[in-house]
Amino acid sequence: MYKHLVITDFDGTLTEKVVNGQKVPGLMSVLMSEPGIDKNCLVEYEELFNKYHPYEQSTNLTLVQKQGFMLKWWLEVYSVLKKYKVTETMIMKSCDSPLLQLRSGVKEFFDQCKNSDISVIIFSANGIGYNTIEYILKKNDISLTNVRICANTLYFEANGQYTSTKQPIIHSANKIGETLIKNDFIAPDQDDTECILIGDNIDDLKMSEGINFKSVTNVGFGDTLSSDFTEMFDLVLPIEAGFEKISELVSVRV
Ligand SMILES: [Mg+2]
Repeated sequence: MYKHLVITDFDGTLTEKVVNGQKVPGLMSVLMSEPGIDKNCLVEYEELFNKYHPYEQSTNLTLVQKQGFMLKWWLEVYSVLKKYKVTETMIMKSCDSPLLQLRSGVKEFFDQCKNSDISVIIFSANGIGYNTIEYILKKNDISLTNVRICANTLYFEANGQYTSTKQPIIHSANKIGETLIKNDFIAPDQDDTECILIGDNIDDLKMSEGINFKSVTNVGFGDTLSSDFTEMFDLVLPIEAGFEKISELVSVRV
């Protein structure tokens, strides 16, 4: 009998990618659209997106080069949050946006993992990760006893203003298994453990990279007709699907 572990992405994986026909942006973009946020904050955030997103997509950079650009990107975004005096209240308020909906069956899936003693690691490179992910899960009555969150934690002054981010900063280029090892979420040798990895992006497959699991079953929410997805993931679920099929998969394993 092997142990089981779930490693899952957050944005677009635990949450819906499309709500009422509208594509849902990442949490940081939802925050930037909050009415309380200075318009120039959004302008500067978008300028940084346009500057750094091409590096994120580039296939010509080495991993080290990409990590350098992605770190710089988040550091500059954090300076913008500070410059425009973004507060914890604004950030938490953005979590109540109607665009942020958990997929159907997510709560039941977490209950199932808890009842079956399966640990869950939520791995997110989202800029306002830890605080908001914890808030959204608790709001949906999800118990976090068997759940750990590897994501950016923000710190605030007594007056609520953002001050700094816990190191190391998680960005899209270090959202890899090695980061989970370095930050003591997991040891590299897991040959008695079967991992179920869940994501909505090809790069999410790297969340188990560098960890020696007995096996990894990759589940992706994406285009079921795209060979990119069908060749890389063991199970591809439609973009609008819920977690029911993943719960079935776990039931037969444990
Ligand atoms: Mg995602």
